[in-house]
Amino acid sequence: LRTFDAEIVDKTCSGQRVYLDRTAFYPTSGGQPNDLGTLAGRSVVDVEDEGERIAHVLAEPVGETKTLSLTRVRGEIDWPRRYDHMQQHTGQHLLSAIFADLFGFETVSFHLGKEVSTIELAIPDVTAEQIARAEDTANEIIRSARPVSIHFEDAGLAKSLRKASARQGTLRIIEIDGTDRSACGGTHVRSTAELAPLQVRGTERIRGNTRVEFLCGIRAVERARFDYRILADLVRQASLPVSEIPGHVGSLRERLAEAEKRARTLALELARREGAQLYAGAAASNDGIRRLRLQVSRIDEEARARAQAFAAQPKAVALLLAEDGSLLIACSPDSGAHAGNCLKEVAAAAGGKGGGSAALAQGRLANQAAIAMLSGKLGF
Ligand SMILES: [Zn+2]
Repeated sequence: LRTFDAEIVDKTCSGQRVYLDRTAFYPTSGGQPNDLGTLAGRSVVDVEDEGERIAHVLAEPVGETKTLSLTRVRGEIDWPRRYDHMQQHTGQHLLSAIFADLFGFETVSFHLGKEVSTIELAIPDVTAEQIARAEDTANEIIRSARPVSIHFEDAGLAKSLRKASARQGTLRIIEIDGTDRSACGGTHVRSTAELAPLQVRGTERIRGNTRVEFLCGIRAVERARFDYRILADLVRQASLPVSEIPGHVGSLRERLAEAEKRARTLALELARREGAQLYAGAAASNDGIRRLRLQVSRIDEEARARAQAFAAQPKAVALLLAEDGSLLIACSPDSGAHAGNCLKEVAAAAGGKGGGSAALAQGRLANQAAIAMLSGKLGF
């Protein structure tokens, strides 16, 4: 039932929570999301099962209660969305029945998501062969177009149910001809033919169980099309047959790792040469020390290599200041300066932190005045 007429029997003061004498809107339950659609032209944003009655939550209120014409309303279900839910839900009955019949795996939960559907099997491991067999069996049953029917039977008399129901009174039983009988209040298709195709997309181990992700019907076709487009794009970019794509990606990753490693080595080598070159170009002060004060974007491996290459030469002191406030000092042994002590003393006196050896120190000072103090101490 995609559209229906009904009487409003009650509603909240806001007019946005409406109760009808009859409804085709499915409320959230049993792992299946509620239907969407319109009621009296207003968007239905939620449908809730309150036990005795079903609440329709509307985006905008329905008008005056007193107006007779507005007590009778038309409901329209968002059918493509509902049909998708019917396919996934019936697919779940089928897949759960197959896992139980083939391997004795019991389904402990079902989730119908926006993009994927999942069942959780009470078994820690499911092999790829078992998945393939279940998928093949499901599609065989789908092709044989078995009727899916609804029966109402007394809970005490209902026979051969997949899982005993805890409910009393009349049970609603969904039967996939020759395959499954389960008590269920959800929405289902009329024939297994409507589920074509059913695809298991993957498995994941969770809480000692196995979560099986599957899709069926239109959702499966759309997802396969989406995946195929991505694959076709990769094939085009790589100019390789599809079977060679995984190997290609693997080799690209290896080559990238090698190239990155080589780039790092070369960058360090370049930094060391730059440090030596800066030393060669620096004039010695009156005290015979060559000093390098350099503003860098950050103190990284390259900056350190540059400063150390400078201070590897005789009578040399290098001070690197980074944009983020961190700094580095490198001193040659014959420079008369102790990098670590120098930084520690300034940090203690003017604020900041840091330290290191006589040859190399790193840290951060509190402000420009502290940096000026350090520069003075190092003879800049
Ligand atoms: Zn069901």
